[in-house]
Amino acid sequence: MEIILTHEQADFDAAGSVLAAWLLDPSRIPVLPKRRNRNLAAFLDDYKTRLPFFTWKTLPKGSISRIFITDTQNVENHPRMSGVHDIIVWDHHPHRHIFPDREENIYENTGACTTFLVEQLMEKPDLHPGRIYATLMLMGIYEDTGSLSYGSTTARDILAAAWLVEKGADLDLMRRYILQPMTDHQQQGFDLLMQTMKTHEIKGKRVITAAADIREISDEFSAVAHHMRDMLNPDGLVLLLAVKTGIRLICRGTTDDIDFGALMRSMNGGGHVRAASGTIPIDYMESADIKDILEDARERVLDALPGFILTTNLNLKEKLEAQIPAAQLELIRRIAETAEQLDMPLYIVGGVVRDLLQDQPVMDFDIVLEGDATRLGKELALRHGGKLTLHPQFFTAKWETKDGISLDLISARSETYAAPAALPTVEMSGIEADLHRRDFTVNTLAIRLDGEHYGDLLDLCNGLPDLRNELIRTLHDRSFIDDPTRLFRAVRFEQRLNFDLEPDTLRQLREQLAGISNLTGQRIWHELRLYCDEEAPELDFSRIVQLGIAGQVHGALDWNEDITKECVRFRETLPEIYWQDQRFIDFEFVESEGPLWIWLSRYSPEIIDSLGDRLLISKRTLHCIRGLAQLRGKLPAISHLAPSEITFFLESLPFESIYCYALFCSKEERKIIKNFMTHWHQIKPHITGENLIQMDIKPGPQMKELLTSLRAACIDSGLPETDEMEWIKSKWAMISRQGSDK
Ligand code: ATP
Repeated sequence: MEIILTHEQADFDAAGSVLAAWLLDPSRIPVLPKRRNRNLAAFLDDYKTRLPFFTWKTLPKGSISRIFITDTQNVENHPRMSGVHDIIVWDHHPHRHIFPDREENIYENTGACTTFLVEQLMEKPDLHPGRIYATLMLMGIYEDTGSLSYGSTTARDILAAAWLVEKGADLDLMRRYILQPMTDHQQQGFDLLMQTMKTHEIKGKRVITAAADIREISDEFSAVAHHMRDMLNPDGLVLLLAVKTGIRLICRGTTDDIDFGALMRSMNGGGHVRAASGTIPIDYMESADIKDILEDARERVLDALPGFILTTNLNLKEKLEAQIPAAQLELIRRIAETAEQLDMPLYIVGGVVRDLLQDQPVMDFDIVLEGDATRLGKELALRHGGKLTLHPQFFTAKWETKDGISLDLISARSETYAAPAALPTVEMSGIEADLHRRDFTVNTLAIRLDGEHYGDLLDLCNGLPDLRNELIRTLHDRSFIDDPTRLFRAVRFEQRLNFDLEPDTLRQLREQLAGISNLTGQRIWHELRLYCDEEAPELDFSRIVQLGIAGQVHGALDWNEDITKECVRFRETLPEIYWQDQRFIDFEFVESEGPLWIWLSRYSPEIIDSLGDRLLISKRTLHCIRGLAQLRGKLPAISHLAPSEITFFLESLPFESIYCYALFCSKEERKIIKNFMTHWHQIKPHITGENLIQMDIKPGPQMKELLTSLRAACIDSGLPETDEMEWIKSKWAMISRQGSDK
């Protein structure tokens, strides 16, 4: 499969050039990044059913053979790109020599990248892109050339634009989505502001502030604010501009949750919820450094802002009722009623709330309460019967109802880490501390269940905005230091939810990789095993290699496309092969660890041994990994040998290794394994050692050889039972003769 990619925060030129590249050859798959600028996102939203774009999430399965990259030389890496070397770059920025030079690469100096791809379309007389496609490509050219007004615009951009208009591009439609170009002065101010830009997370909203001294620039700056808002797409943008009369504030919002109008009115300005402005008067003669003045103004705005951010009180009662199975819901009601009478606030917390908000089915969950879980458990058992197991030292209780449903009741707790990577010291606490001890913001959401609060969402760590923006974010800078298993967890959630690691979290992750050396082998192995329960474990494995996490576990661990293919085949074949009659195979064991065996069995026996030491892998697992390594090395080479030889080799290995290998090996090898499992392995001669003893043959190597070659004859030439005695006699005579000859 061939795909077309472009840069993150895609704009019209990015999408226009991807579209043009696709029109040149529709067998390529056009993929847009998840992050798009506001204008493009609005256009894609309005015309999504008529556009051909995919994302990484919707991209069909299958391996990627070639990648085309447009409008950039710097695409965000994705695990599915690993191992693809056939990359063609089409860009209109100066050549940065990032990808290998090749003839098909194009680095042109046109104003827009879409331009030179449209030029290629122009050579196809029968091509009629239609109104929507032509408009999107035209917007690409217009956006990057400031509607054909920037100095960088070339005649080629204008000719390509003219062709698109001829082909039906709709200028009225375009005007609805595209920004008006900035003047040179505005562009100058824009550049200054971009350099001083800061991002703030305030009550769950992403607010960007930027400050610049523009006293020498006389122009109108609301167009600049629009450009920045559309490009950066924050919840709110505040520009602080030093003008002759003071500091001019220009505020723009993208939601109604920040009331900029009210904020500006509190500073003697005015405006609406989403667009407002004001001026803080300054007497420059008296004042010191302009930078300090701007910083003071920034702080003043930031101090005031939280009072103008509306936090919506979300109640998820309806979601709870719709998504939680009736029996569990009934149980929750009973527990909540008792908890209310005991005055214990009660919550569901963590992954279950995250999944609920993402409309995923939720099956089982824990109940967290403020107070003593064992006390609540006892009261529930008293009122409703059932079985109660108490763990007072861990502040937990397990309650199994008479109907056989069981739930863990857990006291809210705080955790402190005496040393990095040590297990935490746990104390009973309020829900707030319980949420703050958790790993990532999206796992800190809670829903209250008792009394009048039933269904109230509690979001103390800004989990909701991160969930909406699809970000995995730690709660604080020391998170990975306190508990390096979170490095593995971060990848698991990133891959499972198809979220991004928030940039600061990614930085922490990269800086704190060394903490892995403090983790015990069991804890790392546990995390790696959890990857096997994910839908596509190979994505987690390749990602931990890419991020350097695997390298900290063991220097030999690497990844390539072949392992991906084997893991995918394993997963896809799993439902197909299930040898019902082979009860001696622990199928679940293979299912729960197989992808890890596949990965680790690719290494030499020495490396497997040292991985076993580092990860404290159990003897049983190690035996299976070694077995798989032997199969990899030997089975392809012995496939042509007699069935008995193959049988004796396979019988020396754990059957779980053989089953695992059958799930990803070639069809021919699988056929051999199937023959072995269902036929050869079952063949046992009727004559046994007992019969031989009666023939005066003594137990020992000769008897063993006799029985082995009898079995080989049964397997290879189907020796019938009636002929076995005859066969033994003549074989024994031969062995005895050879013995006396010696
Ligand atoms: P899954 O669907 O894989 O069960 P989950 O979010 O329920 O995902 P669990 O591993 O079951 O995750 O953990 C339950 C909750 O406990 C998490 O949501 C998280 O808030 C918290 N948690 C688990 N492990 C850690 C950790 N190492 N550090 C901090 N919090 C953790």
